[in-house]
Amino acid sequence: MMLTKESNGYDEARLGFQRHDPHRPEVIFPVTSAAEVQEAVKYAADHGHRIAVQASGHGLTRGSTGVLIATRNFNQVRVDQAAKTAWIEAGATWRDVIAATAPYGLAPLSGSFPGVGAISYTLGGGLGLMARRFGFAADHVRRIEVVTADGVRRNAEDDPDLFWALRGGGGNFGVVTGLEVELFDVPTLYGGSLYVDLADNPTVLETWREWTREVPDEVTSGVALVPFPDIPPVPAPLRGKHIAQLQLAILGDHGPELIEPLRGMPTVLDTVGELPYAESGKIFAEPERPDSYSSHNVLLRDLDADALAILPKTASQRVVGIRQLGGALSRPPAVPNAVGHRAASYSLTVISPGQGDVTGLHREILEPWTAATIGRSLNFSFGPLTPDEVREAFDRDDVDRLVELKDRYDPDQRLTPNHQLTALR
Ligand SMILES: Cc1cc2nc3c(=O)[nH]c(=O)nc-3n(C[C@H](O)[C@H](O)[C@H](O)COP(=O)(O)OP(=O)(O)OC[C@H]3O[C@@H](n4cnc5c(N)ncnc54)[C@H](O)[C@@H]3O)c2cc1C
Repeated sequence: MMLTKESNGYDEARLGFQRHDPHRPEVIFPVTSAAEVQEAVKYAADHGHRIAVQASGHGLTRGSTGVLIATRNFNQVRVDQAAKTAWIEAGATWRDVIAATAPYGLAPLSGSFPGVGAISYTLGGGLGLMARRFGFAADHVRRIEVVTADGVRRNAEDDPDLFWALRGGGGNFGVVTGLEVELFDVPTLYGGSLYVDLADNPTVLETWREWTREVPDEVTSGVALVPFPDIPPVPAPLRGKHIAQLQLAILGDHGPELIEPLRGMPTVLDTVGELPYAESGKIFAEPERPDSYSSHNVLLRDLDADALAILPKTASQRVVGIRQLGGALSRPPAVPNAVGHRAASYSLTVISPGQGDVTGLHREILEPWTAATIGRSLNFSFGPLTPDEVREAFDRDDVDRLVELKDRYDPDQRLTPNHQLTALR
């Protein structure tokens, strides 16, 4: 089936979670199989169209025209309990994956929001709730099936270059129809959020920073600065307050002792406790409603105490998300991949809701972090980047190889991924 602008269901099929600059394709292929993906790619080549792919639409940075391959309903997940692996089809979200793995007490390396598409998250590296213990999601991919821009279906693991580039290099090299990931024996986590009012506790960020220097790899955590509006959908204790939300995910039996140093601060809301992995979305408790948003991300060598101290003031009207990296994220994977900047210790993202261009404003907020910046994370970059900015996500030694592989697998620049490695000609 193919939808045109005149078809019923065109708008529903083109709109995803991110509403900043939605796709406006000539035709949409709402695919449910690898064969239909192949048909869509061939149609694009025959008609001289570019190709965009959309699963849940969380990562969309720039609306495309041409052909849109909508994978939302191509979303089955098959679990091999004995092998501890899951086969994930192109459009599955982490919610779909977790629903399939949780009955076996197994968990994938999913992230903060279960509604995010598992494939794009993983192609972009994938920073999950257990990241410091197990590494990037891309480090634990066993197999990838992909349709390249020439319309050929390939098993990427048979082509070391393609397999390397797809795991970390994003959607630049083909349309992934499914991939196999490792699962982990994690039925429960100790986690949740401590919501601290910045007005009463101005040193909360420094307390968290000091704490992260001591914690073992079993602890993966972040902090979000959120200026909550004073309106009813916001939980009453948070309304109208500038909050530091400490987001905690801890493996093993020592969660309560490990977070003891953070317990000294008064909280306005505390959701921390033992929870089934199937409820791990409650840890960050991110909004479910489609919205418009833009962001800029930097990966930091270290978290500078002075820059951190002024952040609540310089970014008082923005959402800021900081995550601790390190641990297994800093170690090379068993099979090398394109994920860059493993030396980064923290990731910092400034996010603005709404439609305006906030590039200048975000740059100002990030200016004090310039000296410590070693690159950027594409998964946390919501908004168009130039190819030069996209390349900053990778290790310098890997950039030439990625560009060469982009030219090899997509010589006509048929694919328009959310983060493009090469400028469109
Ligand atoms: C609320 C929220 C929380 C998040 N939390 C995390 C987190 O904890 N960790 C993390 O690492 N990231 C996180 N992200 C970022 C997220 O992983 C990326 O935005 C990701 O690209 C979203 O994928 P999607 O399928 O949902 O988005 P989509 O917009 O559907 O896809 C994004 C892009 O991926 C490419 N793509 C999609 N499907 C395919 C395919 N089958 N083959 C090839 N390319 C494809 C396309 O270029 C597409 O434009 C979060 C994002 C949001 C909005």
